[in-house]
Amino acid sequence: MARRDPRSALMAAANNLCGLFGGTFDPIHRGHIAPIREVFRAAELAQVAYIPAAVPPHRPQPEASANHRLEMTCIALAGETHLTVDDIELNRPGPSYTIDTLEQLRQRHPQRRYVLIVGLDALLNLETWHRWQTLQQSVHIIAVGRPDWRLPSPLPRWWRRARAESISDLRRAPAGRIVFIETAPVALSATLVRQRIAAGEDVGELLPTGVWRYIRENKLYGSSN
Ligand code: ATP
Repeated sequence: MARRDPRSALMAAANNLCGLFGGTFDPIHRGHIAPIREVFRAAELAQVAYIPAAVPPHRPQPEASANHRLEMTCIALAGETHLTVDDIELNRPGPSYTIDTLEQLRQRHPQRRYVLIVGLDALLNLETWHRWQTLQQSVHIIAVGRPDWRLPSPLPRWWRRARAESISDLRRAPAGRIVFIETAPVALSATLVRQRIAAGEDVGELLPTGVWRYIRENKLYGSSN
């Protein structure tokens, strides 16, 4: 991917288009970082906020506590300038619905525009999300490819209606468009990382710097120090 042109960085800051990347991050791994860096550059975003879910509504509850997951996300992004962490969902009781997060962020930063960044596996469950139609119509979505996941053919009707061909199309509409980006694949999931830790393996190279040490120090996922 080409380096970011400093002029486009200025334009992005002026546009104030910010990416939101939610997840359980249980734990955060390399598949959560490299594809998002690519999206950040390709979409010329001002920043991307990683948002650890407190109580994910659509999946089994995380193994590590919210504080540990937040801490690991902060460690993973410590050296990043434009990838940030927002604990907004950890400070809110009840299920971590994305639409609530979006509305809360819009109240907090009315001058910003937001785009959701979602892995293809997660986006294909969109119809199960709380107030999904309101959410889809009120924000752009960038879907990131994931190894072992193919775009369905045909696409679901809601996606066909919202489909954008390229990232630049997102700047032509205020909200409600979905664009799919094929990033360099990282064949990794947190489930796999947890399984390998529980099996006693060293998973250091699957994780951002510092996260493996944190996991061992805190004996997470069945690891020992
Ligand atoms: P688990 O295996 O526990 O379900 P996960 O690895 O899918 O976890 P999550 O925290 O659930 O990670 O995912 C957060 C977001 O990151 C989702 O949108 C998901 O699709 C995306 N994602 C996770 N792993 C990858 C990957 N390897 N490549 C691209 N996107 C990914």
